[in-house]
Amino acid sequence: MKGTPSFGKMNKSPSHVRCRRCGRNSFNVRKGYCAACGFGRTKKIRRYSWQNKKVNGLRLV
Ligand SMILES: [Zn+2]
Repeated sequence: MKGTPSFGKMNKSPSHVRCRRCGRNSFNVRKGYCAACGFGRTKKIRRYSWQNKKVNGLRLV
């Protein structure tokens, strides 16, 4: 079901739209905040150390 038949599922209203702060498609419409940066939930930008994928060879425990 990779082609046209599966497009039938695409008219569900999206739970996430483009966030205007981080630009990612993570702004939850129903909850009213961004899952990625916390826009709408917190004034600070939601950030975590484990979020950074570039580890530079350091192994974080
Ligand atoms: Zn965001």
